[in-house]
Amino acid sequence: MNEKVSVPGIFGINVFNDAMMRDHLPKQVYQELKNTIERGEMLNSSIADIIANAMKDWAIERGATHYTHWFQPMTGITAEKHDSFLAPPSSGRAIMEFSGKELIKGESDASSFPSGGLRATFEARGYTAWDCTSPAFLREDAGGVTLYIPTAFCSYTGEALDKKTPLLRSMEAVSKQAMRILRLFGNTTAKKINVCCGAEQEYFLIDRELYNQRKDLIFTGRTLFGAAPPKGQELDDHYFGSIKERIACFMHELNVELWKLGVPAKTQHNEVAPAQHELAPIYDDCNQATDHNQLIMEAMKRIASHHGLACLLHEKPFAGVNGSGKHNNWSLSTDDGQNLLDPGKTPHENAQFLVFLCAIIKGVDEHAELLRLSAASPGNDHRLGSQEAPPAIISIFLGDQLVDIFDQIEHGEATSSSQGGRMRVGVNTLPDLKRDATDRNRTSPFAFTGNKFEFRMPPSSGSISGPNFTLNTIVADVLMEFANELEKAEDFNIAVHELIRRTYVEHKRILFDGNGYSQEWIQEAERRGLPNITNSVDAVEAFVSEKTMRLFGRHNVLSKLELQSRAEIRYEAYVKQINIEARTMIDIASKQIRPAVVKYAGTVARSLAAVQTAGCDASVERELLEEINANLKLLHERLKMLTEITEQASMLKGDSKSQALFYRDYVFAAMNDLREPADRLEMLVDEDVWPFPTYGELLYNI
Ligand code: ADP
Ligand code: MG
Repeated sequence: MNEKVSVPGIFGINVFNDAMMRDHLPKQVYQELKNTIERGEMLNSSIADIIANAMKDWAIERGATHYTHWFQPMTGITAEKHDSFLAPPSSGRAIMEFSGKELIKGESDASSFPSGGLRATFEARGYTAWDCTSPAFLREDAGGVTLYIPTAFCSYTGEALDKKTPLLRSMEAVSKQAMRILRLFGNTTAKKINVCCGAEQEYFLIDRELYNQRKDLIFTGRTLFGAAPPKGQELDDHYFGSIKERIACFMHELNVELWKLGVPAKTQHNEVAPAQHELAPIYDDCNQATDHNQLIMEAMKRIASHHGLACLLHEKPFAGVNGSGKHNNWSLSTDDGQNLLDPGKTPHENAQFLVFLCAIIKGVDEHAELLRLSAASPGNDHRLGSQEAPPAIISIFLGDQLVDIFDQIEHGEATSSSQGGRMRVGVNTLPDLKRDATDRNRTSPFAFTGNKFEFRMPPSSGSISGPNFTLNTIVADVLMEFANELEKAEDFNIAVHELIRRTYVEHKRILFDGNGYSQEWIQEAERRGLPNITNSVDAVEAFVSEKTMRLFGRHNVLSKLELQSRAEIRYEAYVKQINIEARTMIDIASKQIRPAVVKYAGTVARSLAAVQTAGCDASVERELLEEINANLKLLHERLKMLTEITEQASMLKGDSKSQALFYRDYVFAAMNDLREPADRLEMLVDEDVWPFPTYGELLYNI
């Protein structure tokens, strides 16, 4: 039985949050820190010592022995290096110290993290700097208690080497441009715009004993072999089904840990595929949400083991059943709480809403390749476009009501007439858009869901920083363009109307409300000129296009050099991932599958001989043996082929892009070839001799 918990009693107790800061800091220091956080500025070093000391006392009181700068290098996961608070002992007595300098800045050997060439040009040294907009927190586990300080990570010369830096920069960019639009609409009270983000996290849980018997899961996070089980997800009996007790215990422990960390874990349910689940926190500021999502993923993996489970975050752990994604819910709101994607009740509010909507539509259409890239990963290549998750083509679902309004604006009369001082934009007022409108389209990669957009492409195992800094930047860019135009307008009302009409006409090709999984859509999208980037290697190009470089440069989100290094890192990561997968397949096929089949073929051969000697009809044994042998031969040949190609690939010279292309076109193809006979053999061989757990066992033995 789980102990009863009081959620309000434990929520955020492991966070040095606003309330803690107020309690532990002198009033003036607290105020100064708060101002710094609100303005998103660097911390004044004069108060850093006081904050560090208060933080240390709080942490030590709670049992902490160490602190760590916690950062998000380009690996997509987090990194940490723990230091104890121990200062040089005095007269043999331990003194615990933590200075402002240690809080604000850390030094780390950047050469141990992917830098995509930045480290060749610059010094190997890297720096971590406290992001005081994300509070410090305590992580407790069996290994003790540690104070975590969220930080940004950059090179000696200031180039971003992480996922946090561009995110923070992009939040500033979109806030700045959105404020210009708000001012034009007469808002004088808002001081800044927050990006709100709620990321739904999908994952699989399987039995740990079984997991430990699968080298493919251990080394690559996904199954590289496995015949389809007799039962898949066709009965739809897992989705929202009752949660098994063992899983519920895991979820409970996870929730408690997350709540203590101030992560507002809210919703949990079983997902479509057997053994698949989802957790959604309440949305938060996008920087916090990104940090929290990392904590969620890390906690899931760790806590699963307490329950004899293994958590799989891979996008496609099992062929033939649904994969996992991360739905990134995104909206903009003023610091005084107005959601800019909430259609208003008055025509005036509606016009403002439509301007923001248009900015998103235009941004997504103009930078579809970049948005696609933000969700690309080797794991997600198995998911996007595979008749389950969103297709690889970016399109936007708006719903009938909004499309209808845009159509009216397109064909209606432009009018500058103000009624009672209010503006009319083609239509007087929007109908109340119900959040639960029945026409929610599950196949759309980018759907408007009432007062936010839901970007459904991002990979389950990846950081949500990329999707968010991309969205923030492309929207900031269009808002800038809109503001430039509207600020100059002689008649604001006419200009707004014209802007909305023109943007809709020019960019409505990106709107699609039909079935995103259908073959017809692929053809239709091609006719409309929408990019269809089917794999993560092709996607990388978008990082270094002129268009992207200008975009990120204009808003100081990523420099040309930083973009080039990121492209490089993507190619390298792809090569490494496929190389590991290929070598794991070779290992399993040669050391587990082939020996097992050879042995079993011997058993069948002996039976065949015995049946024949007994003078009986041995046609079944013969047929079986022949089929096993034919597939064994194929397995053997394809194993040799994969081994050869992988060796060839590892000796490739040349740039990382051509290496990635080779891995995709030859190594990956050879992997698929090898899997075929292996999966057929699984169905021919006695289950007692098959060397590892099958899909049926992995997916249903919980
Ligand atoms: P679904 O039906 O896709 O599961 P939910 O309504 O449960 O969608 O919401 C999913 C996520 O969207 C949650 O994390 C929720 O907090 C978040 N969300 C809700 N409103 C907003 C908003 N205005 N901006 C960003 N995220 C939001
Ligand atoms: Mg969703």
